[in-house]
Amino acid sequence: MTDFLALAQPGVQQLSPYVPGKPVDELARELNLDPASIVKLASNENPLGPSPKALEAIRGELAELTRYPDGNGFELKSRLAARCGVQISQVTLGNGSNDILDLVARAYLAPGLNAVFSQYAFAVYPISTQAVGAQGKVVPAKDYGHDLEAMLAAIDEHTRVVFIANPNNPTGTWFGPNALERFLARVPGNVLVVLDEAYIEFAEGDELPDGLKYLARYDNLLVSRTFSKAYGLAALRVGYALSSAQIADVLNRVRQPFNVNSLALAAACAALDDADYLAQSRQLNDAGMAQLEAGLRELGLSWIPSKGNFIAVDFGRDTAAINQALLRAGVIVRPVAGYGMPNFLRVSIGLPAENARFLDALAKVLSA
Ligand SMILES: *Cc1c(COP(=O)(O)O)cnc(C)c1O
Repeated sequence: MTDFLALAQPGVQQLSPYVPGKPVDELARELNLDPASIVKLASNENPLGPSPKALEAIRGELAELTRYPDGNGFELKSRLAARCGVQISQVTLGNGSNDILDLVARAYLAPGLNAVFSQYAFAVYPISTQAVGAQGKVVPAKDYGHDLEAMLAAIDEHTRVVFIANPNNPTGTWFGPNALERFLARVPGNVLVVLDEAYIEFAEGDELPDGLKYLARYDNLLVSRTFSKAYGLAALRVGYALSSAQIADVLNRVRQPFNVNSLALAAACAALDDADYLAQSRQLNDAGMAQLEAGLRELGLSWIPSKGNFIAVDFGRDTAAINQALLRAGVIVRPVAGYGMPNFLRVSIGLPAENARFLDALAKVLSA
């Protein structure tokens, strides 16, 4: 038999598949549990459920399902451009922002070239990089966060892309405006900086810089954002990038013609207009974070301070058994051993009752 793994390009042979959070139905099947009794805090999903306006927009679109979506995503791009203060030509839509990361890799990386990213950074950076045969240069983290100085030092003549996430997943760590400015001012102009702001709506105005403010000054900056988290539309897969018009043009050349479907386009437009939903998401997240932190403190646990909608809890020992026990209690959180953090579990912020369920189950597991 032919070994088709050996025939895959070397970068792909060395990849492990992305491990998503365990689906509720899967755990229900495995343990014979009622899906309704299971709490999933594993994928940084929005616990509010989708915006009613987004649902209404989807219903309005159903009769048109025989038609291809608008391949240019004109309506959504127009709204995003107006909202973000850029030209329509600077907006790229993606099938989730994962798609954006992939477009960047396909357009700018190749064998012999490299992308720089941090230890404990989002798992898709190495996947997108190695998938096109480029090398991922992993820079050791500092206090679990990006060491931007060390990342600068890691850039060499073969570097085409630097991926930075603010805040980062799975650590929740962030950097402030001064650090970003110092970084951008010193990155060589021919290196594309991908600033991944998947969680920015949870932290806006806090201590996090708004990446959009730097677009006019740095034509090697691309800011990527998503409707999956604060906008609550993870299943629909919509993300976007803001960059120079030239970079957007390049990404558009490798983009699949209809990468964002019509239901997603309509729902994203509606979600963008639902300011109440976004405010509620943020408020729920702030309150849930406080609730989890208080509960974890009571249990004598520590965690990495986070600006996302999740928190990486440090158990000081391997968490595989704790995770299994939580699953048996019907609580799904996210092991992050694959990220090189075997002593941590990442917990997404849920509804108050879900957070309480998690804390309660954890207390029982730890005292067992
Ligand atoms: C969730 C996440 C994304 C976005 O994923 P989508 O493809 O938009 O659903 C991007 N970057 C990071 C760091 C994330 O955690």
